[in-house]
Amino acid sequence: MRILFLRPKPSDKTIGLQHVMLVEPLELEVLASFVSSVDSPVIIDMILEKKSIEHIINTEKPEILCVSGYITNVPAMIRYCRVGKRMIPGIITIVGGVHCEVCPEDLNDKSIDYRVVRNATIVFPQLLEHIKGKRDLPKGILKPGEYCSPAELPPFNFYFPVPDRSLTTRYRKKYFYIFHNRIALIKTAFGCPYVCNFCFCREITQGAYYERNLDEVIDELISLKEKDIYIVDDDFLTSRIRVKRFIEASRSANLDKHYLIYGRADFIVKNPDIIRDFRSIGLRTVIVGFESFSDHELRRYEKNIDAKTNEEAMEVLNVNNIDCYATIILPPDWGKEEFAQCKDKLRKLGIHYVNLQPLTPLPGTGLEVTDKSLIIPYSDFSRWDLAHVTMRPEKMSVADYYKNIIKLYNSVLFQPKFLMDYIKKYNVFMLWKMIKGSLMVWRQYMAKIKEAKQNA
Ligand code: SF4
Repeated sequence: MRILFLRPKPSDKTIGLQHVMLVEPLELEVLASFVSSVDSPVIIDMILEKKSIEHIINTEKPEILCVSGYITNVPAMIRYCRVGKRMIPGIITIVGGVHCEVCPEDLNDKSIDYRVVRNATIVFPQLLEHIKGKRDLPKGILKPGEYCSPAELPPFNFYFPVPDRSLTTRYRKKYFYIFHNRIALIKTAFGCPYVCNFCFCREITQGAYYERNLDEVIDELISLKEKDIYIVDDDFLTSRIRVKRFIEASRSANLDKHYLIYGRADFIVKNPDIIRDFRSIGLRTVIVGFESFSDHELRRYEKNIDAKTNEEAMEVLNVNNIDCYATIILPPDWGKEEFAQCKDKLRKLGIHYVNLQPLTPLPGTGLEVTDKSLIIPYSDFSRWDLAHVTMRPEKMSVADYYKNIIKLYNSVLFQPKFLMDYIKKYNVFMLWKMIKGSLMVWRQYMAKIKEAKQNA
């Protein structure tokens, strides 16, 4: 069977961080690994393709079309399936991904034959058997118009085969993450043991947490050609023992990689020796969800970390010459003063790179809001990108709020004293790529200011 796997292109309405970070579609490589020995699957990354969906479908002529994406991709996922149905009578369409798993009703469209909502790595091969008429439809899959409560779904199963990365060979040189060029992704654990109330990640596994066997992980790392590795666990720094074992195993395997990981500030502060050791085997960057430098806000987010710990974590990273990509949440009650305080703190702590996320009440998280406080309706999926301001600012206009976001970005990202550091650590090409990418994002924010003024 000819199976086409599609990674959607973001809508023009989405503030597209793909200008500064674009990584391989790991979930599609995982699913394609089940069929690559018998069928001829194709993965098309629509972010990198210049051709239209109509052209792709006409060229590939798939019998089965599989699309996976996030909340911002919902309209594109539905559109691709509609185009597929229109162009190829009899085509079978399947959608999945984290948003489909948490909110399958958003993808309930008659052009979509199957929505995968639980244990994709188990039920996907079973679904293909079902399509071939060899078995019943497995549990964990919905047909159009069907609904099922989480309680009716099978228990989580985190089986994870080795992804078939050969199917993205033609794109691989283009994958990067900020200053990490030609980066490969690897997943070593699922879920997160913490319960921060704004976080969508923990909803995906509904609190369940599972770690892959480290020997398997090391074998997969050995097979990767790329030197830069992005470990996409929601939090790689959960257990001192596991991280220590990972470092030892990497050393024994003589791995020569540069790692980018997610980690919490409290682990970094409690385990400076592990961080130092990890640096010696290639840890280059930690994405730290600081969220805030105010104890009051951190309590509100149920982060279970205080502001002092966030500051101490930066000291540990700075001492070890490890880059930090910080994430800060911007709540709607911030005024000019809070933006200014945040700028001072980020600069004082030596944070070079920051992702500013307006507080976004994604479905399934613990953030309850009334429809009145939303300025972007939930159904406008493309704008729920963690960059748009979705909740009405309380102390300034929406346009001014966007202006403050841009000002804060500019004052942290473009500090002249760090430009030379970037060139020394990476190279002029990467710096130029980042400046160009940041300018594209900046232009999108300027368009938001104009739009907000028109809508005021
Ligand atoms: S914000 Fe980070 S630590 Fe908190 S629940 Fe989400 S992934 Fe876990």
